[in-house]
Amino acid sequence: MTKRRRKKRPNPSQTPRFGELEPKYNFILNPYPDARFSKCPNCEQRTGQRKLPLLIHIDPMHLISLNYTCRYCPRCDLLIGHQHEIEFLLTQMFTQYDPEVIGNDYLIMGTMERKAWREGMKQPKSVAEMRSHIHDFKSYQTIQMTVGGWFPKDQEPPLRQPPPSTDWVKGNGS
Ligand SMILES: [Zn+2]
Repeated sequence: MTKRRRKKRPNPSQTPRFGELEPKYNFILNPYPDARFSKCPNCEQRTGQRKLPLLIHIDPMHLISLNYTCRYCPRCDLLIGHQHEIEFLLTQMFTQYDPEVIGNDYLIMGTMERKAWREGMKQPKSVAEMRSHIHDFKSYQTIQMTVGGWFPKDQEPPLRQPPPSTDWVKGNGS
């Protein structure tokens, strides 16, 4: 299994952050619906679950928090989110709220403090207010898997293409 890293942040103190709280959790987005990650892809230990509000930016200018149950490896401090589940929930949300947005690019940016999330459900917060309750991720990766099976020893197993999104696609909200 290989992983692709987003751009590295060699000196976090000089890199602008969105959240004003300390960065928390390493995050992996899993695009394969059949991979459940009951074992951690880094250390192979069993994963648990952790439900937290994820902060998601959706183009062009939506910022929402989504209460979502991630797989969690305490040893690696690693959260794993399933892309197809997150997109299903986003599609449900935006079908009611703004269907034009469905299918736009989005970025999962970090986690929000639970108390602030609950308050925000009753009384939406401004972006400036939200920032003081956000932990950016320590790192963000998308996972890539190789095709299973046997290959000649001089041949690298090819990468497995994840299936395309089914919910989060343009025109799905109309
Ligand atoms: Zn682990």
